Amino acid sequence: MRIEVDRELCTSVASCVAIAPNTFELDDEGIAVVKNPTGDDRQTILQAAQSCPVNAIIIYDDDGKQIHPPLK
Ligand code: SF4
Repeated sequence: MRIEVDRELCTSVASCVAIAPNTFELDDEGIAVVKNPTGDDRQTILQAAQSCPVNAIIIYDDDGKQIHPPLK
C-alpha cells in the first residue's frame, strides 16, 4: 500500500491525524505528511483517507492501483 498527500488540496483539517496519528502528521506549513506509511493498520489508514473532506489522501494498493478516492 502506498500513501500520498496532495499538498495543493490539503486544507489542514487534520482529521487524518486524529484518526491515524501514527501515520500522518502536520508539517511546519500545517499540511499533512506521511510520517510512517505503516504506522497504523490498513483499515485505520483507509478510514483516515476517507475522513479527509477534500480527498487529499490518495491510497494505492501494492499493485499500484488507486483504491482511494474511488476512481470514477
Ligand atoms: S484530513 Fe485531508 S485536509 Fe485534513 S490534514 Fe489530512 S490530508 Fe489535509
